[in-house]
Amino acid sequence: MTATKKSMSLTKKVLLGMAIGILTGFLIRSVFADVAFIQDYIVNGLFHVGGKVFIATLKMLVVPLIFVSLVCGTSNLKDMSTLGRLGGKTISFYLATTAIAISFAILMANIFQPGVGVDLAQATSFASKEAPSLGDVIINMFPTNPISSMAEGNTLQIIVFAILFGIAISASDKAGERISAVFYDLNEVIMKLVVMLMKVAPYGVFFLMAKLFSEIGLDAIFNLINYFLVLSATLVLHALITYSAFFKIFTGLSPVKFFKKMETAITFAFSTASSNATIPVTLETATKHLGVNNKVASFTVPLGATINMDGTAIMQGVATVFIAQAFNIDLSIADYAAVIVTATLASVGTAGVPGVGLIMLAMVLNQVGLPVEGIAMIIGVDRLLDMIRTSVNITGDCVVTCIVAKSEGEMDVDVFNNPNAAEEAESLRLNKLRVEQS
Ligand code: ASP
Repeated sequence: MTATKKSMSLTKKVLLGMAIGILTGFLIRSVFADVAFIQDYIVNGLFHVGGKVFIATLKMLVVPLIFVSLVCGTSNLKDMSTLGRLGGKTISFYLATTAIAISFAILMANIFQPGVGVDLAQATSFASKEAPSLGDVIINMFPTNPISSMAEGNTLQIIVFAILFGIAISASDKAGERISAVFYDLNEVIMKLVVMLMKVAPYGVFFLMAKLFSEIGLDAIFNLINYFLVLSATLVLHALITYSAFFKIFTGLSPVKFFKKMETAITFAFSTASSNATIPVTLETATKHLGVNNKVASFTVPLGATINMDGTAIMQGVATVFIAQAFNIDLSIADYAAVIVTATLASVGTAGVPGVGLIMLAMVLNQVGLPVEGIAMIIGVDRLLDMIRTSVNITGDCVVTCIVAKSEGEMDVDVFNNPNAAEEAESLRLNKLRVEQS
């Protein structure tokens, strides 16, 4: 090996960690399922602890990162009308892609009819909550105590507080400039932490995948193969067709390059099944790899992780039709409209964490009078689908982030077009630091 040999890129290492993890999990499940030592010390010992620690370190960064990067972004806005325009465009695109996603899902489920003739024997009970009203969703966005919003990790409330705080900073002349400089430095430090953490990601992803695949059986998938196939195909098609079209039309840039740059973030989303825990990586990808200015990304990424869940919406569309078909219940056009509205509203107030899609689905089923017990039928295959839909969720966030940034002149196309942009920027930064220190 020569000294000049390039080391493997982080993305490849993370993908490799994921692949080896999945294979290890399968191997343990099929060969060592009854070996107590492996189960106790490897699966429930090493893999369990390693995976949990990895997720915890990711989550640990979410709240400080959202707050600091968004204060940084808004305190640098010279003109406040930019903020309104940015918010308007972002929310419009998030709602539009979500509405397309559910409609597409309902269409696919009606064409392929995954629920027709399904055996209902497995259905048991499932508790559901009422869907929140639009008024409640809006009221809940405003914190009464920002510290408790942070302690609870309530993303929307943190976003509202950070924006107001940022606006106040930009309106505070000299004092504002000093505070803004502190936040700028803090943001650099937190992003550095994200980069440090990503170095151990291949191992973290390996632990998560190895544990999961040594435990989940695929038999459930075979029983629900039609549901699984229709849903996963709809998710993939939505990502490939809708997102590519939106990306090409509204940015004029290459969707292929976009997807290439999304690999690491998608792997994180897939292995954690949490848009929220992936925020640090999504933000890193948007700013350092896709070339989006932090002013835009610090707002659109955390907002997207909370209110924009196209993959989850697709699951709700397919699952609702599936359950209606399985119970032999006809849905009217008004019911479908109710599904679209409820699923969108439910997603606005619910943060992207593993399995939350099922809770939202319960609200949707309730709204259209379908038996909530139907959820018990699909719960067995939900984890894998959750991983796929979370990947779609964060991809949608980044598509809209790029569209909004490009339209605002806040996207560096050279960075987007350079496959090694992030690595080059980091080595430039290190060189500069070395020069400054010498
Ligand atoms: N796990 C998804 C996310 O975090 C939400 C869901 O569909 O359950 O985006």
